[in-house]
Amino acid sequence: MAYSYEAPVSQSLFDRASVVTPGGVNSPVRAFRAVGGTPRFMVSGTGPYLTDADGREYVDLVCSWGPMILGHSHPEVIAAVQEAVSRGTSFGTPGEGEVALAEEIVARIEPVEQVRLVSSGTEATMSAIRLARGFTGRAKVVKFAGCYHGHVDALLAAAGSGLATFGLPDTPGVTGATAGDTVVLPYNDLDAVRAAFAAHPGEIACVITEASPGNMGVVPPAEGFNAGLKELCAADGALYISDEVMTGFRTSKAGWYGVDGVRPDLMTFGKVMGGGFPAAAFGGRADVMAHLAPAGPVYQAGTLSGNPVATAAGLAQLRLLDDAAYVKIDAVSAELRSLVGDAFTKEGVAHTVSSASNMFSVFFTDQPVRNYDDAKKQEAFRFTAFFHSMLEQGVYLPPSAFESWFVSTAHDERAIERIAAALPAAARAASEATA
Ligand code: PLP
Repeated sequence: MAYSYEAPVSQSLFDRASVVTPGGVNSPVRAFRAVGGTPRFMVSGTGPYLTDADGREYVDLVCSWGPMILGHSHPEVIAAVQEAVSRGTSFGTPGEGEVALAEEIVARIEPVEQVRLVSSGTEATMSAIRLARGFTGRAKVVKFAGCYHGHVDALLAAAGSGLATFGLPDTPGVTGATAGDTVVLPYNDLDAVRAAFAAHPGEIACVITEASPGNMGVVPPAEGFNAGLKELCAADGALYISDEVMTGFRTSKAGWYGVDGVRPDLMTFGKVMGGGFPAAAFGGRADVMAHLAPAGPVYQAGTLSGNPVATAAGLAQLRLLDDAAYVKIDAVSAELRSLVGDAFTKEGVAHTVSSASNMFSVFFTDQPVRNYDDAKKQEAFRFTAFFHSMLEQGVYLPPSAFESWFVSTAHDERAIERIAAALPAAARAASEATA
């Protein structure tokens, strides 16, 4: 696909980066491989806007993949960071900030009786699984195709078809033995989970699921799915782990738990709780968490865990996320969903705007999307055309058809008007696109 616009400074930075960094990026999706073109190197962000190295401004609908729920450079978050950093950047000792952040999480999310802070969502899910295995003395982990839990070896296994398929490694470097303890099932299919428990009674340590998936595009759990998982886990003595790295503190004050009320044994968090810094967490039942070192035998540690600057940013952000903030974010999301849907309808583009609370994405199909196989049936080539038209008009979308879009409290009428103005041409580009 040819692009009618250029980003010479970003391109030259990308060329330099490609010499010293594999693929030119530090996380693959940033390289724009799914959509082509030059990845934009951003230099600053304010409210709902990002500015790239060529000096172009974009309305940001990625929000750093979720964390920037108050928009960029929120003055109170920046002030908290400046105050913390003026006292030093890392001590390698306990500090009050991490206690306060843990207290805030425990106060917001009732099933979390104790919490351990880590530095990334990957670390959180990796540690939660280790803890589940240590607690139960069992090896197998059930996950769902299309759910992403970070780049944990055991979780980088995708589905074969059929029930209770043993995972095959999804990437070189993950051994068959590691993936062999992972059972990958189709999402939203409780019968498949029932069959897995029947096939491996007393062997499954945990079922891990995105509380409401956002990594195959937004595919919410069917009515009763999460509750069914919880019930099946409880009946077998396995732990139910709800990964709220993406949904936590975003889909409501208490994340997805605040939406469906299904009580997990363990939960994982990241993104929003770090205020744009590397901070994440896992937590849950106190009797399970008591198995973690130094209270118990399951080892887990981190040089920068509970970092004072990261915890200050996260705490400042969470304290600003009151009921009114979620009303605002939900309203922005609803307005955008309707604008996006109308634009595609007007151009006759088959589409589904799929949402879970304020998270949403577009599938280029009019068929229901309940799992990863359904999501993959969409006409993703239309997204490429749509994405580049929006980018050219100054709207920054996730560079893949299989990612959630994110909004913030900073997305005001002006930002929404800019998105609305860009949509007709972008929807037309999607309708004219060919595979
Ligand atoms: N879990 C979920 C649901 C996620 O969406 C992500 C990242 O997008 C992760 C885990 C991994 O988090 P991190 O990228 O901080 O390692």
